[in-house]
Amino acid sequence: MSLTITNGAETLALREFHPFETDGITYLYMVPSAGIFRMEGPSDAILNALGKGPKTKTLLINELSDHFGIDLLLETIDELTEIHAIGDVNAPRELVPNDLPPAGFPLTTMVLNVTNKCNLACTYCYEYGEDKIVDTKYGDQPKFMAEETAQESVEFLLEESRGQEVVHLTFFGGETLLNFPVLQETVAYARRRATEEGKRIEFSLTTNATLLRPQIIEWLADNQIGVTISIDGPKEVQDGLRVFHNGKGSYDVIEPKIKELLKRHKTRPIGARVTLTQKNMDVLKIFRHLTEDMGFWEVGLAPVTTQEQRDYAITSEGKDNMLEQFEILAQEWLECALNDEHHGFSNVKDTLEEIHKGVSKAYGCGAGLGLMGVATDGDVSLCHRFAGSPEHTIGSVTEGIDRAKQGQFLVDHHIASKTDCHTCWARPICSGGCYHEAHVQYGTSSHPNLHYCTWVRSWTHTCLEIYGALAEKNPKFLNRFDA
Ligand code: SF4
Ligand code: SF4
Repeated sequence: MSLTITNGAETLALREFHPFETDGITYLYMVPSAGIFRMEGPSDAILNALGKGPKTKTLLINELSDHFGIDLLLETIDELTEIHAIGDVNAPRELVPNDLPPAGFPLTTMVLNVTNKCNLACTYCYEYGEDKIVDTKYGDQPKFMAEETAQESVEFLLEESRGQEVVHLTFFGGETLLNFPVLQETVAYARRRATEEGKRIEFSLTTNATLLRPQIIEWLADNQIGVTISIDGPKEVQDGLRVFHNGKGSYDVIEPKIKELLKRHKTRPIGARVTLTQKNMDVLKIFRHLTEDMGFWEVGLAPVTTQEQRDYAITSEGKDNMLEQFEILAQEWLECALNDEHHGFSNVKDTLEEIHKGVSKAYGCGAGLGLMGVATDGDVSLCHRFAGSPEHTIGSVTEGIDRAKQGQFLVDHHIASKTDCHTCWARPICSGGCYHEAHVQYGTSSHPNLHYCTWVRSWTHTCLEIYGALAEKNPKFLNRFDA
């Protein structure tokens, strides 16, 4: 049958999306809008037909009209056009939905490097190891942040957060607890000042756990401080990498302290943060040890940031191995979620939250915009990992932000400047990735992390499949990501 239809001469082509399938249902992850659509009716057939090449609308309908009614085909073509899955063959490519952020974008999270001193000497440390970008040992910054600087930082956060009702203050190091007196004073001060300003402030800190003692644990619990423990796994793994300056392993010191913390501190979930290296790649064993033997509520794992020539850098086979194990944990996570049960693999939860919120990033992360780091002397940098690096300093807590420098940073790091990413379907989630990783790998924070593309795409695909399965079988589980 041949027919003539309105706008039938318009030539249609596929636009940008990434298809994925769960339980026989096809979904489209739209790029760059980050919307997710379930394919129904003749959608698959239309996409398959256009997958072979652009066609006029008339030709497309003629080709499929033996299998579907013409009205249904026209309606589906309209729907697919509306979500930008198909469109005019000459329509320009869309890059990201938003342009540069507006002036006065609020700061919501500030990370205070309360000390740059550490009592451990982890081989792979980005702060002290072979890939450090700040000369923390001989540099100009004081080893400890003074109480006055911490208070000025709080004032800076409250001021720069503008209309935001909730702000986050995170303490980081070095080893954060080496400056416990300033932590105590700062939390009390910040709580009082936030109340005066009509805001709510939330606190968190990262520690290597070596200095936890009953008084500190009480304080953490009483003040509802979120705690992340940097730990690499069972004794043989921890002692191989996370050592004191005399080379002695730290596992026996931290194990009882962590157990005491987990027993006493119930006001916030306690998480573990694992750095994976080529020397500790048994993800499943590490995860099970930290959740089942130690009792952590959540465990997040991230590959080490380092240059490829280091012997602990993860090789390409290592990345495949890591992905396979992540996928096993992701499937376990899904099984639990389908039964409304908790599973502590936070990597999948974090990615799912971004998928659910339809995040389409113009930037790899919030550094230099909604999140900033403060060095011990009060200099403000892109984030905690750049604290103290003159090249990445964009102001100070007393003098404010250098808006010209920040503006240039936002231009240089926008996805629009990352031409390598312009044809990548994963860019709404990745947007080029971590600036610190890029700086270590390529010598500049604005370079996209092309050494991780395959990994990022595979992992995002896995999380999309999990999202589809949950949306189909237990959609109410996803409501927790609405907050
Ligand atoms: S860095 Fe790679 S995975 Fe990430 S958006 Fe760019 S091309 Fe895609
Ligand atoms: S630049 Fe990297 S380390 Fe810094 S906040 Fe962004 S993702 Fe985190």
